[in-house]
Amino acid sequence: MSDLAAIAVTVSPADKFREYLVTRGMRLTRERELVVAEVFSHHEHFDSDQLVERLAGQKLAGQKEGKRVSRATVYRTLNEMVEAGLLRKVARTQNRDVYEHDYGYPRHDHLICSKCGSLTEFENAPLAGILEQVAKEFGFRVAGHRLEVYGLCADCSKPPRTRHRKLDMI
Ligand SMILES: [Zn+2]
Ligand SMILES: [Zn+2]
Repeated sequence: MSDLAAIAVTVSPADKFREYLVTRGMRLTRERELVVAEVFSHHEHFDSDQLVERLAGQKLAGQKEGKRVSRATVYRTLNEMVEAGLLRKVARTQNRDVYEHDYGYPRHDHLICSKCGSLTEFENAPLAGILEQVAKEFGFRVAGHRLEVYGLCADCSKPPRTRHRKLDMI
């Protein structure tokens, strides 16, 4: 699901987050730092509940940090990270917001399976050109775009196995 190559960044996500927080008169607390570290440990689409579980798992694994990161803190930090340009909300599946890295990762779009909820990433240069052209017609200056294509993934659109067998017998 994350097939695209990461972009090299000179400022770490934690430092970028710290910079943003300073402008808001806030600071990078130990809790916020833990959330950023966990989120940027690997590129993956995730929802807030999965993140809460991952952070809880770390705690159980006996990490030196004694402080538990509360669910409320995780939710609040995720919103702050979106505002800071570190994360973006990609979609909403099964009534949960799905997030991914916006920082250090190329712009891309998603094919979203309505059956299994899988998100497949793709980059398509001609598509960006078409959108530029559309924007031009409206005198609109493009700052970015988000395209969500809904349907069934290859696995979910396969006919059931039983049907295959019936066809084979004919
Ligand atoms: Zn599917
Ligand atoms: Zn993505």
